Amino acid sequence: MSFKSDFRELMRFEDQAEKCLKCGLCLYYCPVFREEHDESLVARGRNKLITELLSRQVDLTKEFDGNLGLCLACKRCSMFCPAGIHADQIMLALRADLVRERGLSLPKKAAYRWLIPYRQRFARLLKLAAKFQWFLPAYEGDFKRLPLFLSPLGKGRYVPHIASTSLIDQVPSVVPPPPGTQVKMRVGFFVGCVFNFIWPEIGKTIINFLVKNGIEVVIPKEQGCCGMPISGAGDFETARFLADNTVSVFNGLDFVVTGCATCSSALKHYQIYLADTEERVKSYGEFTAKVRDLTEFLVDDLKLPVSAYGTRHGESLRITYHDPCHLARYQNIVKQPRKILNSIGGLEFVEMEGADDCCGMGGAFSIYHYQLSQRIADRKIDLIKKTNADIVVTTCPGCMIQLQDSLLRHKMPKKVLHLAQLLNGEP
Ligand code: SF4
Ligand code: SF4
Repeated sequence: MSFKSDFRELMRFEDQAEKCLKCGLCLYYCPVFREEHDESLVARGRNKLITELLSRQVDLTKEFDGNLGLCLACKRCSMFCPAGIHADQIMLALRADLVRERGLSLPKKAAYRWLIPYRQRFARLLKLAAKFQWFLPAYEGDFKRLPLFLSPLGKGRYVPHIASTSLIDQVPSVVPPPPGTQVKMRVGFFVGCVFNFIWPEIGKTIINFLVKNGIEVVIPKEQGCCGMPISGAGDFETARFLADNTVSVFNGLDFVVTGCATCSSALKHYQIYLADTEERVKSYGEFTAKVRDLTEFLVDDLKLPVSAYGTRHGESLRITYHDPCHLARYQNIVKQPRKILNSIGGLEFVEMEGADDCCGMGGAFSIYHYQLSQRIADRKIDLIKKTNADIVVTTCPGCMIQLQDSLLRHKMPKKVLHLAQLLNGEP
């Protein structure tokens, strides 16, 4: 099939693919290559194909289409690339050109254009789904196993319970600090889809902790998805619609904070991935300068003292930490979560070997390639086992879902918690 696109999105990253030194370091670090041993799936192979594609020496075949989907966008290849190539940016831009040229499949169109961008519609559908989830067999805590007829989403996968009321519907749009507490800042809270629809209690814990520490928390009701699953699939048009909405509803605040590593990364990268006009370069740039991941905000901006993080009473818990790709590599936030975990009394923190190895989630990657995603996760589970920890802590709800599913598959009675769940001496 001949590709007629002008590669409008890819051209913004044209120089990157050309810089490839063909050293092959990316092969060594890529979790997909480690499983599949196919060079066309890694940065070096893709750079060669992209250079040939741009010079029209080759055409975009269906095979290449498939290869593009087999990337977790984990950024491990970029971290160690001596030429400083961002393989994830090139790959997303090419996916975007593909979508512009060929459109989206019907299921993707329904999800990305009709459902996810419209928060009310999305909320109504999930509310309905929440009423029918009783038919899934109960398993561990709030995780249930998918029945066979839903195996296209991952055969035998464990999924979390959908909340009956979303976080946005449970909290007011402004939560001030308690009377008598000095207001230090006005901060917008970007909720994110997972905290909104699955774990509203984690979102409330974050809001309460911020408020307790002198922050007036603003939770705009009109906020929606950060756009990551949609831009990741190459639908930049819808992702820009969502980014424009986010930028406008969080206007006029000191900071915009989120407890989801994927959301904070998405919001901080609006300018790089999605700014296609002068106006968007300016508005996205001003917005992203105010975005903070929760851990970064508490440590670097609020500069909370150690005592603010509380002490857990009772038996000491052994915990370890998993670095989400979107926090460690996309935002270089590695020290801050460790600083918080080491500040909480009553916890024994043990560092995991390969703490920043990707868990294999990769957003929709784990839906389209569940078996491969599980094989990547199995390596992570081996590393977790070695720590002997009772609890695995992380800061990305996507990683939480993937790790808990993998631990249940391995029949390991360990819990996965978000870092915020350990604040205030919990659990
Ligand atoms: S590590 Fe970077 S320079 Fe080396 S082959 Fe991979 S993409 Fe090219
Ligand atoms: S982003 Fe991750 S999965 Fe994709 S090529 Fe790079 S190392 Fe491999």
